[in-house]
Amino acid sequence: MRILVIEDEPRIAQFLSSGLEGEGFSVDAVPDGEAGLARIARTNAEFVILDLALPGMDGLDVLERLRQEHPDIGVLILSARRDIATRLAGLRGGACDYLTKPFSFDELVERIRIHQRARTASAADGGVVQAAGLVLDVHARTVDGGTGPVQLTGLEFRLLDYLIRHRGSTVSRQRLLSAVWGFSHQPNTNVVDVSVRRLRQKVGADRIETVRAAGYRLAD
Ligand code: CA
Repeated sequence: MRILVIEDEPRIAQFLSSGLEGEGFSVDAVPDGEAGLARIARTNAEFVILDLALPGMDGLDVLERLRQEHPDIGVLILSARRDIATRLAGLRGGACDYLTKPFSFDELVERIRIHQRARTASAADGGVVQAAGLVLDVHARTVDGGTGPVQLTGLEFRLLDYLIRHRGSTVSRQRLLSAVWGFSHQPNTNVVDVSVRRLRQKVGADRIETVRAAGYRLAD
């Protein structure tokens, strides 16, 4: 897999390039968003590691352009910004993952590999997952509950995909915060409930059941 690193700090860019090449990835590195967008148009990068505090175009704006122009490319944000508002903006903006600096290189590699496995699995089944009367198109990020495909945001897609993969069991808010939002602690936030509410509007209110004091589960 070819990875593009957009990172203006030379030491980090060099560390990522040599480390990821040692793990068998092909890596290009550029110091700003404009160069990143130009490079990606010329190479067949499948994954981007994106810093947010960049000279020129801000990382979140780079993310928006990437999602518009290359919706198939996975984007992992690697940033010193740890506040919830920025993390949510990144995930809602379509990043598939968010890791804060300082970071563990092993964890970064593991998260890239999780993304890689998901891609391989979704390519193998044609990118369409069917469960509980829903048809989820992994590439188009749409869900069809019987009345035609509806577009999902990146976050809604990750949430629904997680519920589908764990259908038959109840998933706690804490597990969702960790698996979908990337939080390692329990932030004082109702983002899960808000996102479930939005998702219900798209897939039908009865598709996602609330299990009192336990969490959520996909209806059978
Ligand atoms: Ca930076």
